[in-house]
Amino acid sequence: MLAAGSLSGRLPGLPDEVVPPVRPVKGQVLRLAVPAAYAPFLTRTVRAVVRGSHVYLVPRENGELVVGATSEEMGWDTTVTAGGIYELLRDAHELVPGITELPLTETRAGLRPASPDNAPLLGPTALPGLHLATGHHRNGVLLTPVTGDVMAELLTTGELPEVARPFTPHRFSSAAVSVRQEQPA
Ligand SMILES: Cc1cc2nc3c(=O)[nH]c(=O)nc-3n(C[C@H](O)[C@H](O)[C@H](O)COP(=O)(O)OP(=O)(O)OC[C@H]3O[C@@H](n4cnc5c(N)ncnc54)[C@H](O)[C@@H]3O)c2cc1C
Repeated sequence: MLAAGSLSGRLPGLPDEVVPPVRPVKGQVLRLAVPAAYAPFLTRTVRAVVRGSHVYLVPRENGELVVGATSEEMGWDTTVTAGGIYELLRDAHELVPGITELPLTETRAGLRPASPDNAPLLGPTALPGLHLATGHHRNGVLLTPVTGDVMAELLTTGELPEVARPFTPHRFSSAAVSVRQEQPA
């Protein structure tokens, strides 16, 4: 099974026709501490779209607050930028103004594995025995249980469950693409 995250399209030794069409999508996040004097600061996750950008604030059990996340098409770059952190804080501040009082404890950037339609790639490839479980973009953590169930069923029965069929890697094979292009608009 190939499940190498954003590196899934870079695994050496694969025949070209089964290399997954996965690109890296950069995401920056930051962490804030919540001093005892401010606790409890948030008791549930807050999600919103501010100026067209998604922002969320997640309170952790250890008292920290995670603010995320940017979505940037920057290739393999994982630089934490002033602009990225500024935008997160600006947008989070619109939702919860008090966050600017909190100590900033961490900033980081990661790479999401994204397919051309940003939906997962689940199932067999043209190379017998090679299955993909990648391309989950922004939702790989959320989709962990269903991805695990789908891949377990595929590996034990040889059948891709119905729920996963829209996500087969074959939708990006050259034959599928040319059939799609021949469809009337
Ligand atoms: C800032 C940020 C915030 C996010 N927030 C959320 C969120 O709130 N909710 C959510 O659902 N998702 C979120 N995501 C997306 C989520 O992290 C990904 O969708 C998910 O991690 C993808 O899981 P994966 O197992 O496919 O890849 P990964 O988690 O990247 O794991 C791939 C693994 O393969 C290993 N690997 C790579 N190459 C090889 C190799 N050649 N040999 C052996 N091992 C290899 C890597 O070391 C890694 O351990 C976020 C991502 C980012 C960057």
